[in-house]
Amino acid sequence: MRARAALSARAGRAHTHIMISQPILRGLKRRCPTCGEGKLFSRYLVFRDECAACGQDFRSADTADGPAFFVGFLVMIVFAPFYFILPMLEMALWLKILGFVVLLGAMVGTALALLPLFKGVLFNLQLSNKAEEAQWESTGKHGAPPRGWKG
Ligand SMILES: [Zn+2]
Repeated sequence: MRARAALSARAGRAHTHIMISQPILRGLKRRCPTCGEGKLFSRYLVFRDECAACGQDFRSADTADGPAFFVGFLVMIVFAPFYFILPMLEMALWLKILGFVVLLGAMVGTALALLPLFKGVLFNLQLSNKAEEAQWESTGKHGAPPRGWKG
């Protein structure tokens, strides 16, 4: 009994490990959530219609603005302090302007580099967790108490 429980717990951990780490790794590699072989994107941030290796339909999931949201937050947290520090430094104006241009370029470049990675990971997590749009079930009609209401 104890051995079975330990085995079950170990299997649960392994399952959880696969559920979390495999989609993230495949997403970072920008590979298919189902087989891990086929490439996700046909060009920058544009998904293929289906996996070239296993035929998984890539049109069934949509990451919408999720990757941009997370990348925006991350980039802002990392770069924002420099936008406050740079004006406080004592240096020539042209040097400050150059600093802002370099900082802006680094920020935009980092965001553009991170977007495909985040989009790949979110897409992999969506498909591996069978995520779908929220649905609701009506509990009754207007003017009538909901089904199962005990008021
Ligand atoms: Zn595939």
